Amino acid sequence: MSTTNDNTSSANKPNIAFIGLGNMGAPMAENLLKAGYKLSVYDLSAEATKRLQDAGASVADSPQSAAANAQVVISMLPAGKHVHAVYLGSDGSGNDESQGLLSALPKGTLVIDSSTIAASDARMVADAAAKLDIEFLDAPVSGGTGGAIAGSLTFIVGGSTAAFEKAEPILAVMGKNIFHAGDHGAGQVAKICNNMLLGILMAGTAEAINLGVKNGLDPKVLSDIMLQSSGRNWTLEVYNPYPQVMENVPSSKNYEGGFMSKLMQKDLNLALQTAKDSHVETPMGSKATELYEEHTTKHGDKDFSSIMARHDKSVLS
Ligand code: NAD
Repeated sequence: MSTTNDNTSSANKPNIAFIGLGNMGAPMAENLLKAGYKLSVYDLSAEATKRLQDAGASVADSPQSAAANAQVVISMLPAGKHVHAVYLGSDGSGNDESQGLLSALPKGTLVIDSSTIAASDARMVADAAAKLDIEFLDAPVSGGTGGAIAGSLTFIVGGSTAAFEKAEPILAVMGKNIFHAGDHGAGQVAKICNNMLLGILMAGTAEAINLGVKNGLDPKVLSDIMLQSSGRNWTLEVYNPYPQVMENVPSSKNYEGGFMSKLMQKDLNLALQTAKDSHVETPMGSKATELYEEHTTKHGDKDFSSIMARHDKSVLS
């Protein structure tokens, strides 16, 4: 019997298959390796898998071979169609499940999908998994690439309590705050409610600062006033959209880095889809989506606070 108390030892830790090693997935997978988990990884991009191979993971040539000896599968993919293609089959329709990863997994495997996708898409995969006695959790994250690297992400999880409890120690390696939002799809719903509000707050804050500046106010003075008044919100606290009001935020670095406008637009569209599916009105969310749709035609790769440029083109060089 081992007497060591090394929490990076791989003893008693499940083997993990990690699929999708992009800006978020790669650092998340690296943190699992550092914590002593054995990882088999798969990505369509050889460059992405090479990075993880160098960090100690074994590289597989398909999701199925990545999961061959894994008790847990984690995915971090761009959108719903990629999640469906991996789990349900090549065309993602769910009509040819024999081609999907789910059909290759043993009963009892725990599947954690951390991609941001529509709740309806997550529920579709969860239902297919349940038929095969596989536990599925939707576990989208908040915290961006900085949080992924630092292991300080917020996980917002939907699924059964038993599966959540099984996943918690693994998620704790990659994140600081881990919420169980409810049943399947609840993680995705909570995530897009938050991001819809964030899009609205950012668009509204940019609009208010612009109104003040065009009426002769200093943007820093106005921001300080609103920060101590009832307009106070997260964007004014830590992410001011006007250049040089705050140091080390994207607006003071020509809107480079941070959270790209096109990703905000994707999340706003997911919020609108959820609203439509559930017959709920979201007039502010619709307006924010309209603003970001127009903005991303030119500035999709810039941080989402660059919505400021809608009012004042000179803020972007
Ligand atoms: P990314 O585009 O950098 O990475 C996605 C990876 O998935 C790529 O390496 C790609 O090659 C791989 N991939 C695509 N299809 C695949 C398939 N069929 N099989 C295997 N690999 C496949 O995206 P990202 O920034 O890492 O974001 C991933 C998810 O996290 C998205 O849903 C995004 O909305 C969400 N998210 C991103 C951020 C952020 O700041 N980037 C923050 C929170 C949430």
